[in-house]
Amino acid sequence: MAARVLDGAAVAQAIRAEVAPAVAAFAARAGRPPGLGIVLVGDDPASAIYVRNKLKSGAEAGLRTDLERMAATATLADLLAVVDRLNRSDVHDGILVQSPLPAAMGPDAERHVFDAVRPDKDVDGLHPANVGYLVQNRASLVSCTPAGVIELLDRSGVTIAGARAVVIGRSDIVGKPMALLLVHRHATVTICHSRTKDLASVAAEADILVAAIGRPGFVTPAFVKRGAAVVDVGTTQVSDRALVERLFPPGSKRREVFERRGSIVVGDVHPDVADVAGALSPVPGGVGPLTIAMLLKNTLTAAEQRNPAAERRNP
Ligand code: NAP
Repeated sequence: MAARVLDGAAVAQAIRAEVAPAVAAFAARAGRPPGLGIVLVGDDPASAIYVRNKLKSGAEAGLRTDLERMAATATLADLLAVVDRLNRSDVHDGILVQSPLPAAMGPDAERHVFDAVRPDKDVDGLHPANVGYLVQNRASLVSCTPAGVIELLDRSGVTIAGARAVVIGRSDIVGKPMALLLVHRHATVTICHSRTKDLASVAAEADILVAAIGRPGFVTPAFVKRGAAVVDVGTTQVSDRALVERLFPPGSKRREVFERRGSIVVGDVHPDVADVAGALSPVPGGVGPLTIAMLLKNTLTAAEQRNPAAERRNP
């Protein structure tokens, strides 16, 4: 039997519908909308699409959204100067520096930049202070993608407390915060990575399996316990015809899209997992829309926390 779809697009829509009136209420109280400054450095086409979607969703939710575009030749010092300006801006409550940064900025550039964003404007939840708060289960700004996965599970009726959860991937932006959020919700959590031995058997113990690796179709049915809830965070742009033909049968919708566009976004979870899992988030239409919805929510949270006077005047 095919797995129930964990409909990220629908859950994201529900979150956006909750955020919009709260944004309007904040604007009425504070005399300005919550503001989000997005910095995009260079010409990475995927980043340009992500940023466009974030700007569009932000504007639709009633946020003030400003894009700072910087040339690929910008230096780390140039970028830090822009971050500093946004840190001191009264109209920007949230700052997001789109990753990846150009390689020419140096291997530690992202760390320098994430450290430089004011923690109370850190809507990506990547500043070490916010990561520390997350460890202590008192964070208000949490990395958007894992926070979105929790919303997806909660709003789809998947019980987290007491579940065995396995997270494949240990990045600072997805894997580690995901594992922390699940453990705070009383799951028993195992984190797997490229050095995990017998990964498929470890994963197959999970009631909730989150794949955040970036390897298309890596998680096959052998990794999945029958009936498990599987969340596919992975998004890889695939233009390799042989791989697409291996993953998706002729006549399938994905193959059609590939024929039309020459590439498709593919998740970490193999399509055959739908025959084993109890619930499965699709790619696209799963975690991606939630990441954006949580960015809007985090920007609202940052604005409300930075503007308590407006909160008090009109509770
Ligand atoms: P990342 O920083 O590259 O981390 C990938 C993780 O996967 C690493 O911990 C790595 O292990 C692990 N890994 C790689 N190959 C593996 C293997 N063969 N077996 C087991 N583990 C393996 O990536 P990320 O930023 O976390 O992103 C992961 C995926 O999620 C990507 O596809 C990304 O595009 C996607 N993503 C999607 C959204 C969204 O909104 N939908 C948001 C963020 C990320 P090691 O640590 O041992 O190297």
